[in-house]
Formats: sequence, structure tokens, C-alpha cells
Amino acid sequence: MADQTDQDDLARRVAAGERRALARAITLVESTRSDHRRQAREMLERVAPPGSVARRIGLSGTPGVGKSTFIEALGMKLVEAGHRVAVLAVDPSSSRSGGSILGDKTRMELLARHPAAFIRPSPSLGELGGVARRTRETIHLVEAAGYDTVLVETVGVGQSETMVAEMTDVFLLLLAPAGGDELQGVKRGIMEIADLIVVNKADGALKPVAEATRAEYAGALGLMRRRDGDAEGYPQAVTVSSVAGDGLEALWDAVAELHDWRREAGWLERRRAEQATTAMRHALARGMMDALHRNPRAQAELARLSGQVKAGQMLPDDAAETLITALTGSWQVETD
Ligand code: GDP
Repeated sequence: MADQTDQDDLARRVAAGERRALARAITLVESTRSDHRRQAREMLERVAPPGSVARRIGLSGTPGVGKSTFIEALGMKLVEAGHRVAVLAVDPSSSRSGGSILGDKTRMELLARHPAAFIRPSPSLGELGGVARRTRETIHLVEAAGYDTVLVETVGVGQSETMVAEMTDVFLLLLAPAGGDELQGVKRGIMEIADLIVVNKADGALKPVAEATRAEYAGALGLMRRRDGDAEGYPQAVTVSSVAGDGLEALWDAVAELHDWRREAGWLERRRAEQATTAMRHALARGMMDALHRNPRAQAELARLSGQVKAGQMLPDDAAETLITALTGSWQVETD
């Protein structure tokens, strides 16, 4: 009981926008300890479901492209315009390197000190599925705490962009100015999920290069098939200078325009509903495997079948099928 009162209290303080409570709540959802998971779920249930008002923006780019500089500059403009901005980082490489690139305390110094901004570095460990769950729950928490703009940042590696795109409303790909052969370097799959390609560092000597890069990407985007959820004129390629601040307002106008269009067209609601069911399926797949590993009878059967597969006495798929049938046998419907 005391436990539940604690979760009630934490949820209430999160909803009241208390920073320290929010930080604690996020730490709780990041924990993989089973008692913490239970507490986190109780707390999340008590946090009122956000009414889909926040703008969830995904942002990806390779290290050095200027993500922190960009977020700091854009974030400051947003908070000065009265928005409340949360920045979350997803850094799948940190589990390998041991230290999170995105967790660097010196990043986004101005924004980090602003009372209307909340910056959360990435949790430092875990496989992508776990990272996805924690990030989704953290988005829920920051929205409940009253942040109307959520930027989810990731480094451009592997599947992390897709994961971030799957939990946000609009996805930005940040690029540096570069010569023609660079275009091939950006994986087609990433271009296909971008709503806005943002060529950063359009200043000084790099300005004409940035403009040429933008034109090239605009051409490539023009050749792509129109997707469900594309407003007229999107996806788009733009240039900005995060250092000089040029182009940031125009970029944000485009983000807001696309977001508003998607909301009004009903696309956002459909998308979020799909995202929620996808999340449920992922949780189910993980949970089923966990349950399997926790159940002694299932474990024994799994060991027995593994032995047969190893010895070449059974095909892997047949063994899996045998176990699935054993587990779901009670679900069989009577046909006669
Ligand atoms: P991140 O690794 O993607 O977060 O990149 P950073 O924000 O740390 O930036 C990497 C480097 O690029 C830093 O030296 C920045 O000062 C520089 N940089 C970032 N944005 C701009 C820009 O708009 N113009 C120029 N000239 N340099 C920039």
C-alpha cells in the first residue's frame, strides 16, 4: 500500500511539472529490475494520458553534423516563443563504447539551464527493444509534465532512426554540406523516412556547398514515391546554420505546418494508434520470451528440444512449433 501511495505521489508531482519528480520517474522507467518495472507501470497508469497535443519530432544525424548545436539553437528559439521543450536522446552505440556520446554534460548548455527546457541524456545500456520501450514511456512522462515539444535525437547508426521515426510525428535528417558522391552515402531507407532533410552549416565558405547539397537532395526527394502522410510540398530539403541561426525559423514553420496538416487530416491519430499497437506487439514478443525463461516446465521442455535440435534429430522450426503447440494447447477451439 505504501508503495502505491508513493507511485500516486510521484505521478501527481510529474503532472504538476516538478522537474525532480520527472527525473526520478524517468529513472524508474529506465530500470530493468522487476520490482521497479511494476512500480513504473503503476506510476505510468496514474499519469494522465496526454491528449496528443505535443509535437514529437525525431532527429537523426551522424556525429559531428551539428545535432547539439542545432537543438540548442532551435530549442532556445522555441522556449523564447513560449514553448516547453524536452530533449531525449537515443544512443544505441553507447552500450558498446561504454560512454554515451549524447550524454555529454557540456552539450546544449544554454538550453539545459533554461527553466522551460528539460534535457535527458540517453540511458547507457540495453538492446534496441528495451531502449524503445523506455523512450516511449519517457515521451509519455514529459508530455504529462507539460512539455509541448519533444525532440528525440539519435545518432545515425543502424536501426535507431527507424525506431525513433516509429515513435515520433515528424522526422528530420540532419546532414552536413558535401560533394556529390555523398548522396549515395545516405542510405535510401533513411531518406525514405525523412520528412525534412536539413543541411546544416550553411554559413561562411560552406554556404554555397550547403545550397548545392540541398538542391541535390531536393532532386532525389522529388523522385521518391509519395507516401501516406505527405502534405503537398513534402518531404522537403532545407538549409540552416545552427551557429548563425539562419533558416531555423523557416524550418520550424515547415515542421509545424506539416504537423498541423497531419493532425487535421487525421493521419496523426491513426499513426499514433498504429504505433501503440506496434509497441504492444513488441512488448508481447519480449514478454513471451521472458515468461518462457521464467517457467521451469517450459525451460525443461526448451532444454530437451534444444538437445534434439543440436543432435540433428529435429529441425529448428519443428522444435519451436512443438513448444508453441504445448504452450498454446489450451487455446484450441472445439470445432465440433
Ligand atoms: P553533433 O555531434 O552532431 O552533436 O555535432 P555538434 O553540435 O557537436 O557540432 C559539431 C561541430 O560542428 C562543432 O564544432 C560545431 O561548432 C560545428 N557546427 C555545428 N553547427 C554548425 C553550423 O551551423 N555552422 C558551422 N560552421 N559549424 C557548425
